[in-house]
Amino acid sequence: MTDIQFAPLEDWGLNAERPVIIAGPCSAESEEQLMETALRLKDTQTQVFRAGIWKPRTRPGSFEGVGVEGLKWLRKIKAETGFKTTTEVANGKHVFEAIKYGIDILWIGARTTVNPFAVQEIADALEGVDIPVMIKNPINPDVELWCGAIERIAKAGITRIAAIHRGFSSYAETKYRNAPNWQLPIELKRRRMDLPVFCDPSHIAGKSELLTEVSQRAMDLNFDGLMIESHITPEKAWSDARQQITPVELNTMVRNLVLRHMDPGSNGFLQQLEGYRSEIDRLDDELMRVLEERMKVASHIGECKKENNVTILQSGRWDSILSKSIEAGLEIGLSSEFIKKIFSAIHQESINKQTKIMNQ
Ligand code: PEP
Ligand code: MN
Repeated sequence: MTDIQFAPLEDWGLNAERPVIIAGPCSAESEEQLMETALRLKDTQTQVFRAGIWKPRTRPGSFEGVGVEGLKWLRKIKAETGFKTTTEVANGKHVFEAIKYGIDILWIGARTTVNPFAVQEIADALEGVDIPVMIKNPINPDVELWCGAIERIAKAGITRIAAIHRGFSSYAETKYRNAPNWQLPIELKRRRMDLPVFCDPSHIAGKSELLTEVSQRAMDLNFDGLMIESHITPEKAWSDARQQITPVELNTMVRNLVLRHMDPGSNGFLQQLEGYRSEIDRLDDELMRVLEERMKVASHIGECKKENNVTILQSGRWDSILSKSIEAGLEIGLSSEFIKKIFSAIHQESINKQTKIMNQ
């Protein structure tokens, strides 16, 4: 990405003071819902009004968006409220329609960023057009794919580009809908300090009560702004009801964010620290999975021993595990006391599990 120039957010006609707020419902549902939400958002720090009109849904049969009709509502909102407007585009036709109806900013969704064919089609449609484009991370945690999409759009001549971090799909259960994997946007920022980066706490959190902590984290990591889903009656929303908040709630949340002003040096340090912490969290998860796997195998052994009427504790086996582990530990710089402690605890837990099985 070294040959690309990124324009600052001021060039988008925005006040770039952090946090730049993009807000609006997950989906445009009706003209009234959209206009009412926009009017209430006028009392907040929101600068850009968002609404999805073509909705990528996991299963067919869910609400898939109102389509072009919604573009007319957005055009009216722009005229009556002065908000800049943004919507998601997933193909060349969407780009053409959105521009025709005066949408100010386009965004590419997570399910599109994963597909270079789709991103290239959008890039081709943008050839010769001067409009800001925001690119959400791909669903899978792949920073190269994210950069690739940014490069494709930049190669079409677009200079007003921003990234949106909306979290990543993960197999492991987390409290969030999409795992934040903060090290990925941090890596993106490390590569290109001048690329504006927004956080979408709504799609990361998946639940309104987790929005504040995700938004605060994004501010602490020096993100430029937030894209937040807001609905006049969240519980009645046709999509993503659990994660939307009212304009009033949005206002309170944004006002309560603590903005730490850091000099570039300490900021770099914090980002690096955050990257390492995320890595530790990931490794701890891995340790848990390995322990879970080990305990399962120990339980199978317990069942075997019960069937064959053998004692649980077989000292010879335990001695050999311990000496083998101490040796392996020493090779990677871990003391024998540490290895003894950790393996004794694991061994004890296995014995407890096997004892339970024997007594069943
Ligand atoms: C959205 O912003 O409503 C949306 C569909 O987002 P994502 O592409 O992040 O899932
Ligand atoms: Mn949504």
